[in-house]
Amino acid sequence: MARLVMKFGGTSVADIDRIRNVARHVKREVDAGHEVAVVVSAMAGTTDRLVEWCRAAAPAHDTREYDAVVASGEQVSAGLLALALQTEGIAARSWHGWQLPIETSNAHASARILDINGAEIVERFKAREVAVITGFQGVVKETGRISTLGRGGSDTSAVAIAAAIQAERCDIYTDVDGVYTTDPRVVPRARRLDKIAFEEMLELASLGAKVLQVRSVELGMVHKVRIFVRSSFDRPEDIDPHRQPPGTLICDEEDIVEQQVVTGIAFSKDEAQISVRHVPDKPGVAAAIFGPLAEASINVDMIVQNVSADGATTDLTFTVPASDYQRSMDVLGKVKGTIGYAQLDGSTDVAKVSVIGIGMRSHAGIAAEAFKALAGRSINIRAITTSEIKFSVLIDAAYTELAVRTLHSLYGLDK
Ligand code: ADP
Ligand code: ASP
Ligand code: MG
Repeated sequence: MARLVMKFGGTSVADIDRIRNVARHVKREVDAGHEVAVVVSAMAGTTDRLVEWCRAAAPAHDTREYDAVVASGEQVSAGLLALALQTEGIAARSWHGWQLPIETSNAHASARILDINGAEIVERFKAREVAVITGFQGVVKETGRISTLGRGGSDTSAVAIAAAIQAERCDIYTDVDGVYTTDPRVVPRARRLDKIAFEEMLELASLGAKVLQVRSVELGMVHKVRIFVRSSFDRPEDIDPHRQPPGTLICDEEDIVEQQVVTGIAFSKDEAQISVRHVPDKPGVAAAIFGPLAEASINVDMIVQNVSADGATTDLTFTVPASDYQRSMDVLGKVKGTIGYAQLDGSTDVAKVSVIGIGMRSHAGIAAEAFKALAGRSINIRAITTSEIKFSVLIDAAYTELAVRTLHSLYGLDK
């Protein structure tokens, strides 16, 4: 007997038929003798619609009320799944974040989990009751108000609950049967990985692969939760309980026997590029530019500063999330006088393509191969960043798919 967390994403609970299929997956594990806590997302499209309603009601909205609205999607799916389980003859009840509780920080719309009380659901395992928990939401410890964990946050709820109840495994059921070398919807030749190291998954997730929320991978790494990504679309009846199902295990680096140099490629079109032209080339200028952006809680990512040609002025280019583009331009517009630049340019038609692999630590020249291959396709690189196990290039958004496919073949990732 094992204790399991099973998480089902939005597409997996998109309608009543799919919720019934999910209920039969849960029943399969309960029948095998396991103790099960289920975490659900809102039905596909629901959260997007709720977010849109908030925007329509108030463009600059109070995030406490935004959370009150967007957390509701998960309440519907949790209740429906509990009903579907009861119909299958399984004892089940739904739990909202505040009922356990799942206590979070006060950062509405992107709250962090502080503490989870799993005592009651563990107690009820004795009576073979399944807990169906709303993903994505919690309650602010200080104020008692409903909070949400940021888009894709149900993954984080699931891993945090697995850690809290000391589950043997956290199974993430989604609309693909594992983590692939890149998004399989963009590159049909992408290969499923049997295993991927936490560090690599962390980079993939933070650089654009939305299969797992970044924070869920961080938590898994810290609390040593075994995370297994698999498909919810399989028919429960077809699964052989004695064989390992298709899927991807997120694990420690040491557990991967055959380490490739490059493991995967991520991309993100949610980027914007800003160039500050002809800024005085003197100490303190970078601080004058990035200070006000930091104060406005804008995350600056890639930074390129040209060597000044005339010894007097230089250009500084950097990226911010596309959603912060206008705000960044406004912030920099206001401090034009103190910085003393000549011109501010920007574009949201850019994309960041990133190549990830632990093997890069011990192999030189991996990035150089990419630059050559991209040049061969006439793809211009606007900015580059590198770190120990990844490098990223900023390119025109129109070339994203071509660049990803080119690099995917280059590093021998095609199936
Ligand atoms: P869920 O609703 O189950 O949480 P998401 O839509 O959040 O599902 O995440 C699954 C999606 O992530 C897949 O449909 C796929 O298009 C996308 N994805 C991006 N990169 C990858 C990758 N490297 N491997 C697998 N899926 C990926
Ligand atoms: N329903 C939330 C969202 O769409 C959380 C999740 O799906 O993980 O972002
Ligand atoms: Mg998701």
